[in-house]
Amino acid sequence: MLPSCVIPDFSIGVDLGGTNLRIAAVSTDGQLLQKVSLGTSTAGPDHVIGEMCDAILRLSDQYRGKGALLGAGIGIPGIIDLEVGVVRRSANLVGWENYPVRQEIERRLGARICLENDAKLAALGELWLGAARGVQDMAMLTLGTGIGGAIVLNGKIFHGMNGMAGEFGHVTVEPDGVPCGCGNHGCAERYASATGVVRMAREVIATGNTPALAKLAASDAEFSARSIYDLAMQGDPPAQRIFQRFGRALGILLADIVNVLNLDTYVIGGGVSSAWDAFSPAMFGELLERSTIYAATAPEESSGRERGSAPRKGKTIVTRALLGSDAGLFGGARLPTL
Ligand SMILES: [Zn+2]
Repeated sequence: MLPSCVIPDFSIGVDLGGTNLRIAAVSTDGQLLQKVSLGTSTAGPDHVIGEMCDAILRLSDQYRGKGALLGAGIGIPGIIDLEVGVVRRSANLVGWENYPVRQEIERRLGARICLENDAKLAALGELWLGAARGVQDMAMLTLGTGIGGAIVLNGKIFHGMNGMAGEFGHVTVEPDGVPCGCGNHGCAERYASATGVVRMAREVIATGNTPALAKLAASDAEFSARSIYDLAMQGDPPAQRIFQRFGRALGILLADIVNVLNLDTYVIGGGVSSAWDAFSPAMFGELLERSTIYAATAPEESSGRERGSAPRKGKTIVTRALLGSDAGLFGGARLPTL
């Protein structure tokens, strides 16, 4: 903790996941003051919001009188109606639809509350303190169970007509590909996500020519993207091909985004981005081949800049996120101050 005399004003970032509720107090100059993590229950929004507000009050009480609470930004996995302050749709928060989330939290805290989609807050965090620091225009892809997306223009999240801009996960990368829950076929997130990796692994196991993968699936109760990645890193060709397929899908998606938007920086985050070594060669290969803009503006080594170094003018930078799962907390704290 900092000495009280130097604590500036602060804000609160909240990451409201399906299983975890994480809250951070962050100073206006980007220092993490404190972070707490609570489990979320399925008891519904009333209960969860009550616990969240109690935790925020406890946290902010420690800093009140030293600096002012400027507000809180709350990241929610789903589609948010920003004007009304309600969750329109969330696969992870059952029973939250149309509950007056912002109004309830503002009533309990008496502070400015901003709701936002969690992937968009992660982009704001990376823009403020992470891989896109110093950049004005960027996009972020968060690779997890699906693909979250965000477009930032002139330092602000671009929402589109009703907050749904940046749904990169449901861009078609295979016209006749596998069906997606959204109703389309061949969506990017059916290939370039944790569930995509496991799905593709089960598909190749069914061919009967992948003894190491089949053994892993039989012995590992979780059979996760992580364990398939470990197998790829041990040199198993079928496991490596799954991540090449992953990289190819992601590269096709990125090539389209780069061609449409011509932004400075594209940040790849989320849990599965840690498999970067396994998928990024195929991703950069597709990008170079399919995007005329990327081919004309790629950094010389065409593998993105060194993590954390300054942006290079006129170059299209595709790089890994730097803040991990804290990106959304920083982005949430940043939002009420913009
Ligand atoms: Zn889809």
